[in-house]
Amino acid sequence: MARYTGAVCRLCRRYGDKLYLKGDRCMGPKCAFERRPNPPGQTKKFGMRRRRVSDRALQLQQKQRARATYGILEKQFRRYYKEAIRRSGVTGDTLVRLLEGRLDNVVFRLGFADSRAQARQIVRHGHINLNGRLTDIPSCAAKIGDEITWSEKGKRSELIKIMQETMQGKEIPDWLGVDSATMAGRVIAQPDVAQVGAKFDPAVIVEFYSR
Ligand code: SF4
Repeated sequence: MARYTGAVCRLCRRYGDKLYLKGDRCMGPKCAFERRPNPPGQTKKFGMRRRRVSDRALQLQQKQRARATYGILEKQFRRYYKEAIRRSGVTGDTLVRLLEGRLDNVVFRLGFADSRAQARQIVRHGHINLNGRLTDIPSCAAKIGDEITWSEKGKRSELIKIMQETMQGKEIPDWLGVDSATMAGRVIAQPDVAQVGAKFDPAVIVEFYSR
């Protein structure tokens, strides 16, 4: 599946908030948004543009933030939205649960990777098993009861050791369980929307698409 391959810090600057797309770097002084919070293309030399922003543009921005957060392209994002309206319940919450249930996101949330981009790569490179079977599709949906473990290839990699060492400082959401000794994770509940800490408003995204 295609993905965005441009400079990710640009996305934070363009959408006006830290989206935490680069793991540890986002927490330190090297964060591009901390150093230059203005949108890309605007410099002090040429003057900052002050534009009136329409409601539609603000809705678009929320949707783009969500896309950037999960690293997915428009076509796939729209598919998630269509699936969310097909299901019962609050569409915005369902959309967030669908996005959170992606295997690459679950790997990130379990603390097996420092960023979703890294999690995606770990999955793509065949380091992850889903219910005992090697799964290299980052968009694969993890359901309640599913077990996420490292594959034989993953267990042989240096990465698992690094991740195991840094597991302690990571906050794992309540809907996931993890055994840091064996580096095995499990989905124990539906993703809790309140715990997601989303940098976007799902209700506004629903408004954007329903126009
Ligand atoms: Fe965004 Fe992280 Fe880059 Fe900062 S370092 S601009 S939070 S991706």
